[in-house]
Amino acid sequence: MKQIHLSSVHISGNEVNYIKSAIGRGEVSNYGENLDLFEKQLETYFSKKSKIALLNSGTAAIHLALIQLGVKYGDEVICQSFTFSASANPVVYQGATPIFIDSEPETWNMCPNYLETAILDRISKGKKPKAIILVHSFGMPAKINELVPIATKYEIPIIEDAAEALGSTYNKQKCGTFGDYGIISFNGNKIVTTSGGGALICKTNEIKEKTMYLATQARSNEAYYHHTEIGYNYSMSNIVASIGIAQMEVLDEYVLLRQGVNKFYQEFFKNVDGIEVFKEPNSKFISNHWLTCVLIDETKAGFNNDDLRLELLKHNIEARFLWKPMHLQPVFEKHPFYGNDISETLFKKGLCLPSGSNLSQDEKNKIKEVITKFILDNKK
Ligand SMILES: *Cc1c(COP(=O)(O)O)cnc(C)c1O
Repeated sequence: MKQIHLSSVHISGNEVNYIKSAIGRGEVSNYGENLDLFEKQLETYFSKKSKIALLNSGTAAIHLALIQLGVKYGDEVICQSFTFSASANPVVYQGATPIFIDSEPETWNMCPNYLETAILDRISKGKKPKAIILVHSFGMPAKINELVPIATKYEIPIIEDAAEALGSTYNKQKCGTFGDYGIISFNGNKIVTTSGGGALICKTNEIKEKTMYLATQARSNEAYYHHTEIGYNYSMSNIVASIGIAQMEVLDEYVLLRQGVNKFYQEFFKNVDGIEVFKEPNSKFISNHWLTCVLIDETKAGFNNDDLRLELLKHNIEARFLWKPMHLQPVFEKHPFYGNDISETLFKKGLCLPSGSNLSQDEKNKIKEVITKFILDNKK
């Protein structure tokens, strides 16, 4: 049997038609009809107030948001610790210092209490943080209703990392539209993909234009190449956008499928002692369930997350640990951290299970069979 992946690319079938049309017009670089179409499609999706700057990665989108917020050498930026490293890396690209915040147990995202503690402490040390990077980990919306008022109170802008949360909503509003800047990713492992790419969700047309200017080497509008600022090569290609159009057409369907995978696991583990499936705290939170995660209590289950991971691997089924928190990463260990052991415990107990929108019934049966046998074998 072929490997069952954690999350694999799910082709809709229409991608090739858009790619062909782009090639037919000779539009294979960073301009063309499909880029315009993809941009409009996303602006419609996020509502007219959101302006979309198409980029070559979600990481680039975070970087360009930090630059436009004036984050420079020596500055401090608050960042959720429980996340993929790409949330924090661009802070370091700017020569600034990430200040890491622990999670709270309901959404696994930034803890509002530690956020406020950190802001007050940094201010008392004479350094007001320049920005707050919030993350909706695994597609689960963060506690927007508590986090946004804190940011507003201290007048610190929010960069909302919705890379994993395309299709998730909080209080019926789409993730990515709460912050001063929102970022999404079209990397190959995300809910939809362009083969690789990202976007910055901007509040105004001016910001969108400034983003695209920075993303195309910061060329001033002259007959010759004139530069007054350092630019970047961060724009998206028209071929990549072609794939994106076809993928956006099926986004709603793929979200339903991922949510269906989550329901499958919830049903399966309902009566299993020691395995808890991560789900929304209440009906205001709607996760796209990009990845379904479980927490394993070793004393009850008789095995830990790594035991289950290795057992699945033996059967060619991919499972992965949750994020190792950034404050525990060797590369970031010198940076300040505000929190306790919430994210660390999630890392120690958690496992992500195969969650793709293309997970077949046969694959679900296989996963169920392997895990059921493992649970029985460990019961003594
Ligand atoms: C994937 C991801 C990113 C980065 O996106 P890329 O398009 O891969 O650069 C940033 N933040 C989080 C939380 C992600 O999961």
